Amino acid sequence: MMALSGYPLGISVQAVDVVDNKIVDPVTKHIINNSLDRVIEEVNAITVEFESIPEDLLELVHGSGKLKPSVEAILTGADRVREKKLLEKLEIANCPFEIVTDVEELDAAVDKLGEKLIIKASRDGYDGYGQWRLQNQSDLPELKLKLSKLNLHKVPLIVEKMLNFDRELSLVAVRSSKGDIAYYPLAENLHYQGQLHVSIAPAPKVDEALSQQAQEIFNKLAESLDYVGVLAVEFFQIGEQLLVNEIAPRVHNSGHWTMQGSDTCQFENHLRAVRGLPLGSTKVTSPTAMINIIGCKDFARDMLSIPGCHLHWYGKTPRKKRKMGHFNLCADNYAELGNTMLALAEYVP
Ligand code: ADP
Ligand code: MG
Repeated sequence: MMALSGYPLGISVQAVDVVDNKIVDPVTKHIINNSLDRVIEEVNAITVEFESIPEDLLELVHGSGKLKPSVEAILTGADRVREKKLLEKLEIANCPFEIVTDVEELDAAVDKLGEKLIIKASRDGYDGYGQWRLQNQSDLPELKLKLSKLNLHKVPLIVEKMLNFDRELSLVAVRSSKGDIAYYPLAENLHYQGQLHVSIAPAPKVDEALSQQAQEIFNKLAESLDYVGVLAVEFFQIGEQLLVNEIAPRVHNSGHWTMQGSDTCQFENHLRAVRGLPLGSTKVTSPTAMINIIGCKDFARDMLSIPGCHLHWYGKTPRKKRKMGHFNLCADNYAELGNTMLALAEYVP
């Protein structure tokens, strides 16, 4: 999606498969006969679309001086311990937590945080993978047995209190190398089993104070990381307060709605930022619902007859719980958007 959004700007994007360092055309997925070193030398800018990048590769790319956002920002997003330390340093409200490097410390964590816990591997988790939930203390011995198989000294656990939040929101915004920031409106996100299923943007019922609170948190984070590119901040809303759940130093699934719902989509704005171009308008063009297509094979495209229904199919090999594509549903107002979502639901078997 980043490569497609670069095309009209004359920006050509090549991708690196981080498993074997092969150079790939991101649209056709064909392997390009070029070496990583040559590509690093030839290109104007280097960026990432996810944060779990092998550290030696990151260091290599960092050495070119072309990497945006910075290696520090990427490593912070990739490691929950670093992330929590940054949030603490900047005094940004987040979920109460303990860092655990030995399963025997879990009892003390339960004493401090309560028995309803969410336990997260500090690295390489996504879509709810690398997470374990504890609902009551009696399940603790079994969970300890499971977690004792992990190397917690190398990859510690972040143990969080399971919050009873009102809803989840995210702020996707972009910062240029000059320090200009363009914010998309807050999106409301619905997760199932730790995985994003639906984003509605702009999130309904957001007043000026709430969006300002989110933007101030974004500013603190982005300025402290001297951030360039799109950065997403995930929040839990409790009453009028926002607690940061996590940050993502990249384009974000809860920003996919911008492909149809905003003047300039997050992918184009990310490319503009990392190439040192002026940022594009983040004005909303219509309320949009982004609906992930998860784990299913290809299907007939009959739902495209619904007015305002747009499909983005990624062409990936199907796997259980894998994000295969998404719909963006656009409408003139929230009531119509609700009807459009119901119309789409008619096509779900
Ligand atoms: P991932 O990297 O997989 O997105 P997250 O930390 O964002 O990991 O967790 C995924 C989802 O799990 C969240 O969006 C939220 O729905 C739920 N979750 C995570 N942490 C908590 C928590 N402390 N309390 C309640 N729910 C949580
Ligand atoms: Mg998340």
